[in-house]
Amino acid sequence: MSRIKSCFFTLILVIFVLYSCIGSHEYKIDSAFTDYLQRFENEGAARGHVFDPKATGLIMEFGTLSNNTAGLTHHETPVRIQIDKTYWDDITTSAGADLMKEDLIFHELGHALLGRDHLNTTLENGDWKSIMCGGDKVNDRSWNINYRGERRNYYVDELFNKTTPAPDFSNLKLPVDTTGYSKLYQLNFDSPSQSGWKLGEDSQHIISLDNGRLRFQSKIDQVFLVFANLQTAISINSDFSYEMTFFYPTGDASNQYGLIFGPVVSDSTGTNDPVEYFSINYNQKMYTGNRSWYSFYTELNESSIVNAGINKLKVFKIGTLIYYFINNVYCYCSEIEATANLNQFGFMVPPQGTLWLDNFKISKKGSSGISAKVKQNQQLEFKLQTVDKFNPGNIRNK
Ligand SMILES: [Zn+2]
Repeated sequence: MSRIKSCFFTLILVIFVLYSCIGSHEYKIDSAFTDYLQRFENEGAARGHVFDPKATGLIMEFGTLSNNTAGLTHHETPVRIQIDKTYWDDITTSAGADLMKEDLIFHELGHALLGRDHLNTTLENGDWKSIMCGGDKVNDRSWNINYRGERRNYYVDELFNKTTPAPDFSNLKLPVDTTGYSKLYQLNFDSPSQSGWKLGEDSQHIISLDNGRLRFQSKIDQVFLVFANLQTAISINSDFSYEMTFFYPTGDASNQYGLIFGPVVSDSTGTNDPVEYFSINYNQKMYTGNRSWYSFYTELNESSIVNAGINKLKVFKIGTLIYYFINNVYCYCSEIEATANLNQFGFMVPPQGTLWLDNFKISKKGSSGISAKVKQNQQLEFKLQTVDKFNPGNIRNK
């Protein structure tokens, strides 16, 4: 009897050990993630990190994650990564989806294959220092990371090597020459002929002149996009600047207002136009992004924002980069997302917000040769557009 019992337990033990062995090296990757895993292996190999998850085991699967979580790494045997299916499907429909997915998968693989923890410090310009940002919130800042262009290379370097030096883009010393720009369009709002947008009232808004400024009062709960449409679009290859001053004395401190500019085709339905934006709020936060993306690139704390005062926002587009200024202080640079010639320049108004605007000005590098007559012949057409959503979705935690 005892021998049978003993045999029985040995059998159970053998089955258990066999199962554990198979289980510990299980390799099961949802096909949605295979390309990103391969990229991670390639980027690692290029930096001297060799992985063989097929041999060591790895599980990457979709799940339903709670608490606004996009991805989760379970330190089990083998290590198991879960990605929230709803979030993945949501970002799939927007521009930049591939980079957003890579960011998410690389972050989780940073936990899973590199053993990295969260790192929530920032670079000099306010960008998150690492793709490994996440976990417990810092100063209630969103996890949006500007994982694009030259930043992508830095973030991948930093992922595989924590001691990667601070990148050039994080330096707050302006690296370009902003002289030599000549005025192309200007509105000073000192008289009706300088008001641009049609003065008057309808069910959605009131536009008036008030002491040399344009006053725009929104009566709706959506965001207003208010554009000047250039008859001759500015070439995407040219260098230009665009600026305006804003006064938003009342309203919720978290409401964003600011500059918008981009290429908009005439038959656009207005939902996902690749319009660049640069907005601020009275929590001294600055946001940059493009409306075709799921969310803003990143959220920055900027002490140069004057709360409840007048703020001048200005961008220089030089080469492929946009340089952002608040009250003449250089704060950030990032690649322009738009790829076509830019015909719409304007501003965004928060829901139910009242903005006072002044000194609308577009300048172009080296355009001083254009005669005053030509400038006058350039027609502006003024448009208003309301949007339900202005990239409100934050990047989820990971
Ligand atoms: Zn994480």
